[in-house]
Amino acid sequence: MPTPPKKSPAAKKTAPPRANKVEDKLARLGLRTDIELVLHLPMRYEDETQITTIAAAGFMGGSMVQVEGVVTHCDVQFRPRRQLVVTITDETGPLVMRFLNFYGSQTKQFAEGNRVRVRGELRHGFFGAEMVHPTYKIVVEGAPLPRALTPVYPAGEGVSQTILRKAIAEAMARIDWSDTLPAVHRDALGLEPFEAAVRLLHNPAPEVDEYALSDHSHPAWTRMKFDELLAQQLSLKRAQMSRREKGAAPLATEGALCAGFMRALPFKLTGAQERVLAEIRSDMRAAFPMQRLLQGDVGSGKTIVAALAAAQAIDSGYQAVLMAPTEILAEQHFRKIAQWLAPLGVTIAWLTGGLKKKDKTQAQASIADGSAQLIIGTHAVFQDAVHFARLGLVIVDEQHRFGVGQRLALRNKGMDADSGPNVPHQLMMSATPIPRTLAMTYYADLEVSAIDELPPGRTPIMTRNIDQNRRDEVVERVHAAALEGRQAYWVCPLIEESEALQLQTATETQIALAEALPDLQVGLVHGRMKPAEKQAVMDAFSRGEVHVLVATTVIEVGVDVPNASLMVIEHAERFGLSQLHQLRGRVGRGSAASVCLLLYQSPLGQIARERLGIMRESTDGFEIARRDLQIRGPGEFLGARQSGQAMLRFADLEADQFLVERARDLAQQLLQTDPVTVQAHLARWLGAKEEFLKV
Ligand code: ADP
Ligand code: MG
Repeated sequence: MPTPPKKSPAAKKTAPPRANKVEDKLARLGLRTDIELVLHLPMRYEDETQITTIAAAGFMGGSMVQVEGVVTHCDVQFRPRRQLVVTITDETGPLVMRFLNFYGSQTKQFAEGNRVRVRGELRHGFFGAEMVHPTYKIVVEGAPLPRALTPVYPAGEGVSQTILRKAIAEAMARIDWSDTLPAVHRDALGLEPFEAAVRLLHNPAPEVDEYALSDHSHPAWTRMKFDELLAQQLSLKRAQMSRREKGAAPLATEGALCAGFMRALPFKLTGAQERVLAEIRSDMRAAFPMQRLLQGDVGSGKTIVAALAAAQAIDSGYQAVLMAPTEILAEQHFRKIAQWLAPLGVTIAWLTGGLKKKDKTQAQASIADGSAQLIIGTHAVFQDAVHFARLGLVIVDEQHRFGVGQRLALRNKGMDADSGPNVPHQLMMSATPIPRTLAMTYYADLEVSAIDELPPGRTPIMTRNIDQNRRDEVVERVHAAALEGRQAYWVCPLIEESEALQLQTATETQIALAEALPDLQVGLVHGRMKPAEKQAVMDAFSRGEVHVLVATTVIEVGVDVPNASLMVIEHAERFGLSQLHQLRGRVGRGSAASVCLLLYQSPLGQIARERLGIMRESTDGFEIARRDLQIRGPGEFLGARQSGQAMLRFADLEADQFLVERARDLAQQLLQTDPVTVQAHLARWLGAKEEFLKV
């Protein structure tokens, strides 16, 4: 934006406050540069190439139509509310237009005899054909129609299509159109040239297939999707390479602690656990930071693998930290791991937000002076007040529950350790399986290890879907299970709009169940309880003193009570499938045959029925995730929305899987052979957005 010369009063007057405003508004849409404007592609197209007669429009069932007629009547009516009512007529009949919000000047536009071209949905009102708030313009007879489809852009408050069209056209006149893809790759992949594709999408020629444009199957769209995916892959791979350039302390010693732990293991590791442990150990020996995701279905035994990795860090003279998303889960880890490692002489610190001031200060001191070798807690372990003496390994359980900001804080924590500008090795764990395409696109900077085998002796969980109005029978089953010495979880409905209501429901459920089952102990655990209260209930449940544990979704992650063999989930239709799978995974941990009862509120819609059907048919987390992805789309997985997702505007991960793979291969090749192309392509497609992808 050129600043006007200082001394000229004329220039002062014409100083561009309006232009600035438009720029600000465009900037709010993320449109700051010419190239961003040029890549702001239409979300759909409108067909203004034809005019329909008013009579024929009446048969077009509410779809968008364009008609043209002459104003025969215009007045402001006050019933049922103030509105401008205009009647136009063509050779086939009249059409009434209603405008509820209007300016006085509009009555002038609609002077009798003026010709109006109108677009809208025609419906049959009390007075015949009518349109409410159509778009319109005053035209002269025979005014030419556009020959091509009219693009409609994603817009925002105060940014009209006209403003966007103008800004985009101006930007198109200014940008450098050179193709960032060398012709040899373009040809090999059968892709359109960049300029032709972009121009076509902004101004489709009359003969362009309207359907291919709107369903994004047109080759011009394919080019855009490919470019976008390529930029994403390049950026992710570059982040990976820059990680490799960073230093990390090699944690190479498998010493006395590792050996002692292996000897004292309470069970034999499964083959899958052995394999992932070897992968993790080898990463930790490197002088650049590990960034590995350990995936394994609920109950597959990730905790022991994490503890073994921590032992290697400690043997190498470094601290390890384990962070869990909830206090309950962190506490479980603490107890279990302390049971394994404390007898071997490891000093473990416990740190959560709920600690008393004095205990917190003490924990922080032991972390800072290095006497704490292993630190377990919630995200409190990464608050500013916490300084590590020699942090070597960060383990994050249920990593998808943490936001990008928290993951970033955690990554940077290693930097302030005495060990110099080293980044700690990172191990992330998740029971939510990521489908392959997602892993490839969002997590190109992650190595992935999968535990694909459950420990022996588990019995499969039988799942049944039951109508909520048969609750009494379900209560009976809970009773019967308790008489056999088994325990049950009873999960209350998810009430997303109100936490208060959710707590109330949980409390009422506990009271109702306690009344219905007077000979049993019915406990309650929810997210708002004090940590100590929560722990007391969990302990009583673990010891078998509580028979039925009523819970909100706080038990979703990680809780491990092998004697529990019955899981009841109310209003299962309100939960995500991965969430149901996680909840269900709380049972089936011992040798007893386990049952999961999904109560639903009838009538169920088609999709809900399909989703609950999947739960009944499959106990395989990967299969469930795959099918859930088909039904729901990818947005919900692993907080994907927060990272790479923001960048994919045109490509669809499921439908365009083929392109994803091509883009990944080409990215690899370009990074090795063609830095100039890499630079040019990233500058065009990502500009300033690249930082997004690095967490
Ligand atoms: P998750 O992967 O869901 O975090 P956990 O680590 O909590 O699973 O393990 C689930 C249960 O299985 C725990 O009680 C754990 O001690 C037990 N376990 C883990 N590995 C084995 C194994 N190899 N053999 C027998 N039991 C195991
Ligand atoms: Mg776990």
